[in-house]
Amino acid sequence: MLVSCVGCGGSFPDIEGPTHRYMESSPGCWAAFGEVLEREYSDPGYFEIHRLTVDAYAAQHPGQPSPQTIKSVGYHLVRICLLLEKGLTPDRANDAILLITKTKDQFAWLTPPASFGPITVADVREAGNVEQHKKMVRAWAASVWDAWSQYHPVIHGWLPKIDELRR
Ligand SMILES: [Zn+2]
Repeated sequence: MLVSCVGCGGSFPDIEGPTHRYMESSPGCWAAFGEVLEREYSDPGYFEIHRLTVDAYAAQHPGQPSPQTIKSVGYHLVRICLLLEKGLTPDRANDAILLITKTKDQFAWLTPPASFGPITVADVREAGNVEQHKKMVRAWAASVWDAWSQYHPVIHGWLPKIDELRR
């Protein structure tokens, strides 16, 4: 039997089990994320995509408003924006994230969109090899980014200045 995840809305087995403390999900969704992470840790071929997997999952499971969730969702949405929309390499995106730690109070709670898009961690879990997996994570992150589109102007305001990124 499948149940809908309270976070991403995807269908997952109705199991008992742990979930994350503030990234609210169904236990089945959290277990699927755990399997995907295990796969990514098992082979260096997944290294370049790993951060984006975490970003997509976090941005699809925002939880309830709190200082912690505001910070988490803010960081992960900013990183998806830098990687997908601005085309930064993962290293440069991390540098940019360090820059905005100086101004992290700028983040605010964004009321989550009604839908988080058609792709979930369940689709990434189905991937049969490294290339399919990486392709699916990119499609997933792009779809999550789209789902938050009403807030893109707000998120753009959270990015570090472009001249700071070039340093
Ligand atoms: Zn979920």
